[in-house]
Amino acid sequence: MPWCPECGAEFVPGITICSDCQVPLQAEPPVKEEIPKEAMVPVFQIEDPIQGTILQSILKESDIICLIQCGCLVVPRDEAEAADFIISEYLNSLDMGEMPESWNPDDSDENLNP
Ligand SMILES: [Zn+2]
Repeated sequence: MPWCPECGAEFVPGITICSDCQVPLQAEPPVKEEIPKEAMVPVFQIEDPIQGTILQSILKESDIICLIQCGCLVVPRDEAEAADFIISEYLNSLDMGEMPESWNPDDSDENLNP
């Protein structure tokens, strides 16, 4: 069953985007970790849901718990620095290849520049 990572709603198979949050659904229920919300900090503003999903899976591969809240990628405060680095690396690799048209560097200067 697809689940919305943002509002936690469950959807019928075949639906890929939450109609309320406009975020891609996940195959698993949203992670309800023991981490309190205030311990999570936003590291990246998602311009493109696909990109958000990609970044989320990249961070997961690096064992960084990562959620999408209010259109932002949030990670535990302790992991923010590492996550920021991984995201920058990913965005740099995009720079060398093709850049998604929906990604607007003007909006995210703070997080992107080393
Ligand atoms: Zn939702």
